[in-house]
Amino acid sequence: MASFFRSNVDAMAPYVPGEQAPPGTKIIKLNTNENPYPPSSQAMSVLQNIDSEYLRRYPDPYANEFRQAVSDVLGVPRDWIIVGNGSDEILNVLIRACSEGVRKIVYPMPTYVLYRTLGAMQPTETIEVSYGEDFKLPIEELVAANGAVTLIASPNSPDGHAVPIDDLRCLASRLEGVLAIDEAYVDFAEESALALLNEFDNVISLRTLSKGYSLAGLRLGFGIANPKILSGLFKVKDSYNIDAIACAVGEKAMRDQFYKNECCQKVKLNRTKLALSLQKLDFKVWESQANFLFVQPPNAKAEALYLELKQHGILVRYFKQPGLDDKLRITVGTDEQNQTLTDTLSNILYNCLSQT
Ligand SMILES: *Cc1c(COP(=O)(O)O)cnc(C)c1O
Repeated sequence: MASFFRSNVDAMAPYVPGEQAPPGTKIIKLNTNENPYPPSSQAMSVLQNIDSEYLRRYPDPYANEFRQAVSDVLGVPRDWIIVGNGSDEILNVLIRACSEGVRKIVYPMPTYVLYRTLGAMQPTETIEVSYGEDFKLPIEELVAANGAVTLIASPNSPDGHAVPIDDLRCLASRLEGVLAIDEAYVDFAEESALALLNEFDNVISLRTLSKGYSLAGLRLGFGIANPKILSGLFKVKDSYNIDAIACAVGEKAMRDQFYKNECCQKVKLNRTKLALSLQKLDFKVWESQANFLFVQPPNAKAEALYLELKQHGILVRYFKQPGLDDKLRITVGTDEQNQTLTDTLSNILYNCLSQT
């Protein structure tokens, strides 16, 4: 046996997460789309009051306490909700449950890089359909690719556009397989695709507490779909995938909608201001409904700028890929962080790089 692994595992490239600095490092971290504001204090107070009995026992396999909170807040039945160790886990479970052989995985590009990694692990073909310059949903090509799973991030990363609900509706009506709408950034967007869940039995919406709720370290996400879709996913997931602490903290965070909305409102305001400041520095800025901006620096030297910012203690995301390597993805931070970023950019661009 030449390798320990299946041939597609040998052949695949590993997913490369954005750099993480140790907590306490003095760095402005605008590279992995965390919320710059702290989590809900009501959620944090749960940690002071965890009963030891709660940790001695196995957790609830369905995380019902958290599911009930989602059900109450979003007005969907509890048995339409599946909870995951981050929405990444739900993506993983969905893809493992649905794809093999002719049952393919399909998504438009560019999008969330993890889809490619998860697809590459499966014994099936992964079909990438190009978005094109205008980021209009390529419905015909997506339908023709005939996936067992079609993945659409809306708002999309790295550019931040929200896919119009009518385009998603049209796609859902024409697909035979599952349409997964990855709504990781929905808390910063104008609308959600929730209404489609009642119209079509092949649609699942994926949500996370990592972005809107400032809880990326907790690892909690969920999927909403009719029980027919969820039945297969429950078979595939680990039985104790949600730890007791995440379930309890997540419940309080979910119920504290007031605080979450307040934070997201601030991020949206900062997003508008940051976009204007960057445009003043001659950046091209894409329209975003997420908590980040996709930008093209004036001299298009994105990689040099990314490295220079890192020297100054500011991390942004640079993708070394054709079509993306002249652009940057910048998470919207606090007012103060954004100010430091634009001051630094202004210095770099109009002192150093301009001379090269
Ligand atoms: C951040 C992100 C996720 C994953 O969120 P987790 O719940 O932290 O796993 C999923 N999809 C997209 C598009 C994201 O940007």
